[in-house]
Amino acid sequence: MHITGDMLIGAQAVRGAQSTLQAINPSTGEVLGPDFHGGGQADVERACALAEAAFDTYRHTSSEQRAAFLEAIAAGIEALGDTLIERAHQESGLPVARLQGERGRTAGQLRLFATVLREGRWQGATFDAALPERTPPRPDLRMQRIAIGPVAVFGASNFPLAFSVAGGDTASALAAGCPVVVKAHSAHLGTSELVGRVIQKAVQDAGLPEGVFSLLVGAGNIVGTALVSHPAIQAVGFTGSRSGGMALMQAANARPQPIPVYAEMSSINPVFLLPAALQARGAEIGRQLVDSLVLGVGQFCTNPGLVIGIEGPALDQFRAAALDALGGKPAATMLTPGIHAAYEKGVAQLSSLDGLQRIGDGVAATGVNQARPVMFETTAAQFVADHRMQAEVFGPSTVLVVCRDLEEVLALANQLEGQLTATMQLDDADHEAARRLLPVLERKSGRVLCNGYPTGVEVAYAMVHGGPFPATSDVRSTSVGATAIDRFLRPVCYQNLPQGLLPAALRG
Ligand code: NAP
Repeated sequence: MHITGDMLIGAQAVRGAQSTLQAINPSTGEVLGPDFHGGGQADVERACALAEAAFDTYRHTSSEQRAAFLEAIAAGIEALGDTLIERAHQESGLPVARLQGERGRTAGQLRLFATVLREGRWQGATFDAALPERTPPRPDLRMQRIAIGPVAVFGASNFPLAFSVAGGDTASALAAGCPVVVKAHSAHLGTSELVGRVIQKAVQDAGLPEGVFSLLVGAGNIVGTALVSHPAIQAVGFTGSRSGGMALMQAANARPQPIPVYAEMSSINPVFLLPAALQARGAEIGRQLVDSLVLGVGQFCTNPGLVIGIEGPALDQFRAAALDALGGKPAATMLTPGIHAAYEKGVAQLSSLDGLQRIGDGVAATGVNQARPVMFETTAAQFVADHRMQAEVFGPSTVLVVCRDLEEVLALANQLEGQLTATMQLDDADHEAARRLLPVLERKSGRVLCNGYPTGVEVAYAMVHGGPFPATSDVRSTSVGATAIDRFLRPVCYQNLPQGLLPAALRG
């Protein structure tokens, strides 16, 4: 498939006239052709008008029709073969094997939502039979959930496939019956176009209205802001920076009709080292933690950016093993020059803080846009006193916080911001401590793990990839897993409707 640099608005390929963007290979700094042509207000208007026009037809398609549509997209992505993987590799610097795995996850997510649709539970059909003899009489009440409306999706830089054009947000919105307008991430424009063309063709092949899907390109936040502000758009899915997510929330709230923004923003994913586990296998945990830290050059929202342990010989063993492992970890290419610059700035900021020592580094960078892994250390008292130590530094950077005792661990946990995940390394003898920590971690995070590491998010029915602010903008939802569809549905109650007027799921 040929990359043209055009936007995809409904069934058309449209050449934007507002800006020229270029894809960059972050490993070399070279510009990758072709030029991409960013759109403006008129293009947003056209995509949103088509989405609005498609909405009623699309939401009334059967679950089976939408399931088959999602499966066709999955098959189309797989059929792109090496063309997609090579382009994504060039644009992101991510290894080919990682991208092949991510393609599998992307297709798997689409197929998961096809299964969710066929199971039918997504609709949440609920019945309260009429009680005419009761005083006062109860009416016949039936409820189902319907699609919320056209959805704006912002592709994430760190998952060019699984959280981008046909990623989890798009898959769950399309499953719900919502047309989708994607704002392509400028970090992987060619990858976006390749996947966008697959969806565009699947829309056509399925005989769906063209406005079910559009892909916009744009520089300087203009397209993104216009999209969120457009009256047709009824919800937003976003993964990226805290400042970006907050800006989109503000734009959504400033509309005459405010709309929900599901933004996944920043998390440092604390890992608590409980005493018996530390005693039994401190060195092993140290090595494993560093493996998790450098995975994907630390560019995961679930990266373990904070480690908490109680002082003593066992923690010393953990630290020594972690630093030894860290020293052998190479610097590696980050996704974009901008993300690399933000990492360098974040590390410099942490390095400048009083009370925070830089205790170890990985191998120094030798190429462009490479991040060198780094570990800092501080005490609980200093950590709690300086909020800047909690800032997410997107990349392979982590802070070890040394506590005097369990009470200090609990006090620190209580001071943390909202997180996507919280991890406890524990053995049987730690259960009493864990029982005290768990209620705090439930309040602070969307996923509590034991004896694992937060990187690696299973796409499943019970998965929660969400959490209290600033991890996300809406604590009640997940952006990964089957229940991600809930974000794009809303309940409607039908009171005393004749059978002939009831939706199919509520008849009988
Ligand atoms: P980003 O700067 O937040 O951009 C993400 C998307 O949102 C882009 O399409 C961008 O459009 C748009 N956007 C950002 N700010 C906007 C605004 N004020 N108004 C309208 N649209 C806006 O994220 P990024 O480029 O992926 O990475 C930058 C930083 O985000 C990283 O260094 C890291 O700190 C953080 N990040 C965090 C996660 C996570 O999972 N926690 C993931 C990725 C990135 P434009 O292209 O037009 O700017």
